[in-house]
Amino acid sequence: MDDSESPAPTNRYPASDEWHAVDRYFASTLLEEDGVLTEARRSGAVTTMPNAEVAANQGAFLSLLVKIADAERVLEFGTLAGYSTIWFARAVGENGHVVTLEIEPDNAAVAESNFRTAGVADRIETIIGPAAESAAQLMSDCVEPFDLVFIDADKPNNPVYLAAALDLTRPGSVIVIDNVVRDGAVVDSDSADPRVHGVRRVVEEIVANPELEATALQTVGEKGWDGLIIAFRR
Ligand code: SAM
Repeated sequence: MDDSESPAPTNRYPASDEWHAVDRYFASTLLEEDGVLTEARRSGAVTTMPNAEVAANQGAFLSLLVKIADAERVLEFGTLAGYSTIWFARAVGENGHVVTLEIEPDNAAVAESNFRTAGVADRIETIIGPAAESAAQLMSDCVEPFDLVFIDADKPNNPVYLAAALDLTRPGSVIVIDNVVRDGAVVDSDSADPRVHGVRRVVEEIVANPELEATALQTVGEKGWDGLIIAFRR
């Protein structure tokens, strides 16, 4: 497997002690990362991409977005150990539904074990396979539209996932795309990194789509320097 979905390298501006300290401060005050989430995070170590899950404050942010948007149906591209998925499953509530797409069966197995431990397995559907194909199947099954989509799989395919998200949502839905700053590499139009091009192409497509209203937020913290796009479907 190539590393096309791996997080941005953090060698240019290594996460400082201060960034970690601030993450720890908020994680220990504002957030609700309980033992189940802590264990889910730790279990990422046995997946194909250790340490690639969102940070606790980002998980809490995604959870708040679900609640602010009153979302009951969430679609996620890229499950890993299911850390972000658990935040989503808790946020949608017991009548909500989360579909998460993962290419690696071993990662999906780790995630499903975490879902059972978290007591949310009944509201999560994990679909194993290339996310583009799984999303195409959801489209041909004419599933109910999703209220929020989180794109966090292989970055070169971001434009494919955005197109699928547009097919699988409705006006008023929210689309979030992770890892769009990549240590600042996003501004380099000559980058040889296909992940950077995946981000830049998705930005172009958002700009060209009058249905979408979007912004991007840079983040620093224990995951280094990165950020996310938040798009609202008018
Ligand atoms: N969303 C997770 C979280 O925050 O806890 C992290 C996801 S991790 C950054 C990316 C995941 O996408 C990995 O588990 C990887 O195996 C998966 N992935 C990579 N390419 C994929 C593809 N083509 N289809 C589906 N999943 C893919």
